[in-house]
Amino acid sequence: MKVPAIAVTPFSQKLQAPFLKNHISVLQINLGKICNLACTHCHVEASPSRTEELTDAVYQQLIQIIERFPQIKTVDLTGGAPEMMYGFRPLIKAAREHGKEAIARSNLTIYFEQGYADIPEFFANHQVRVVASLPCYLEDNVDKMRGKGVFDRSIQALQWLNRLGYGSDRDLVLDLVYNPPLPTSNQFSLAPNQQGLEAAYKAYLKEHFGIVFNSLFTITNLPIGRSKFHLQHHKLENEYSHFLESHYNSATLDHLMCRNQLSVDYLGNIYDCDFNQMENLLARSPDREVLTVAKILELGTLDVIHEIQTAAYCYGCTAGSGSSCGGSLI
Ligand code: SF4
Ligand code: SF4
Repeated sequence: MKVPAIAVTPFSQKLQAPFLKNHISVLQINLGKICNLACTHCHVEASPSRTEELTDAVYQQLIQIIERFPQIKTVDLTGGAPEMMYGFRPLIKAAREHGKEAIARSNLTIYFEQGYADIPEFFANHQVRVVASLPCYLEDNVDKMRGKGVFDRSIQALQWLNRLGYGSDRDLVLDLVYNPPLPTSNQFSLAPNQQGLEAAYKAYLKEHFGIVFNSLFTITNLPIGRSKFHLQHHKLENEYSHFLESHYNSATLDHLMCRNQLSVDYLGNIYDCDFNQMENLLARSPDREVLTVAKILELGTLDVIHEIQTAAYCYGCTAGSGSSCGGSLI
């Protein structure tokens, strides 16, 4: 008889106190699931065959949010490959016209697809902060996770961004993202120390390719999306979740990205973060109502969420030094 796996401690129980939302200052928009790649670790399960993207109605509402709420300091666009989806450029323009930081989470390779060759110049002209995935500085590891030839194109794209001033001009910020490889045995490890890895990335990329960049963000693989399928395939999901729980660090709580952001999907639904969005765990008002961009516009306030919704995968954000879209937390 198969012994049932022991579940991790519910995250809400671990917290021992309500997990409260702070004042909203970040609007993260997931424009949809279309991507030119189909990476093994993708929590969005994006690929070229997906078709979901922002609707015009939601796009119009998001423009209103950007215009009406000066408290939003950052508009963070993700996907899929956000560059491929409806509303991408006008949302960036609106954010910049209203004095906000605009972030594009870019897979770099998209610049070599037909119709996207002007994206690097567009980024530079609007001083978009580019946060680019490069899960390793070694070709083999990147191509295994992201597909053959991705490393080469990523290197060329980084050199292109550098020629435009990214990484050296103080207004053109280029950050890289590291994801650890997905485990195939129970020899789990957390992402390496961010500072040390950043130094190694900088030295290697400079020496071999002349590339410069600003910061490296290390992001833990949460057991959701394709990472979850991978873990299930290797019968490691439960053990990995326990591993993350065993490294729970309450000092990360104040710094989690869910504290001050609204995460919006292509249909205008609101979540506390992109991970909850992928797991369909909707944000709630104090009276348990689900929220949409349209509802927020009607209420006239962004600060309508009292408590953040949590799940077992929150241990991925709170393990060790913590993890978020902006890298380790402490
Ligand atoms: S990880 Fe990023 S680049 Fe890879 S499939 Fe997902 S959205 Fe596309
Ligand atoms: S997954 Fe991470 S960012 Fe999202 S609610 Fe949980 S702790 Fe916060």
